Amino acid sequence: MRESVADVLVVGGGPAGAAAALFLARAGLRVSVVDAEASPLFRVTRVANFPGRPDAPAGLELLADLRRQAEEAGAGWTPGYAVDVEDQGGVFAVRLRQGRVRFAERLLLATGEDLRLVGILGLEREGTFVATDRAGRTSYPRVYAAGKLRGLVPEHAATSAGDGVWVAVHLISDLRGEPYRDHA
Ligand SMILES: Cc1cc2nc3c(=O)[nH]c(=O)nc-3n(C[C@H](O)[C@H](O)[C@H](O)COP(=O)(O)OP(=O)(O)OC[C@H]3O[C@@H](n4cnc5c(N)ncnc54)[C@H](O)[C@@H]3O)c2cc1C
Repeated sequence: MRESVADVLVVGGGPAGAAAALFLARAGLRVSVVDAEASPLFRVTRVANFPGRPDAPAGLELLADLRRQAEEAGAGWTPGYAVDVEDQGGVFAVRLRQGRVRFAERLLLATGEDLRLVGILGLEREGTFVATDRAGRTSYPRVYAAGKLRGLVPEHAATSAGDGVWVAVHLISDLRGEPYRDHA
């Protein structure tokens, strides 16, 4: 039996993917994250430059907090590495290394330096990055990219998180057909 189809599958749960998942979930979308837990931030002992975190947490702790906030907003979260993706006529089937498959109508790729799904989908690139428009739309319909992967933001956790939010808000606006904002 096929698992349920998410509105958006976020591939990559570093700062960009986690922040995107938070906003997508808060907008009431069915959102799921798969993350291989290989963000460089995992190995940083003290992140002293994340706004709102004067406690300078370990990267591990910061990532756990970003994940918890997304999950508390309603995002599903699966540890695992996505090895394959297939567009099955409007629904993406993303296969994880362990064999499980996640289904979604849209993808938001936030895989940092990892271009595996980018290559499989044949997305246009700019050098080592994924080419997107301002909003994060890639060359493939219903596939967005955020964070380090699209090479538009300086390499910091906070800028990647902000870019995840930026792209999520544009994705939601695309879906609704009007500008979206997450507050009154
Ligand atoms: C040594 C070092 C120290 C740093 N220190 C700081 C610092 O102190 N402060 C700061 O602001 N920034 C720091 N940075 C930069 C910061 O780590 C990055 O800018 C930030 O992590 C980028 O976030 P991202 O979400 O775009 O990508 P990433 O953090 O790289 O997250 C990508 C995620 O996607 C996952 N992934 C990739 N491919 C797949 C797949 N196919 N399936 C499932 N999951 C996948 C990865 O496992 C990873 O968890 C440091 C970087 C390095 C290398």
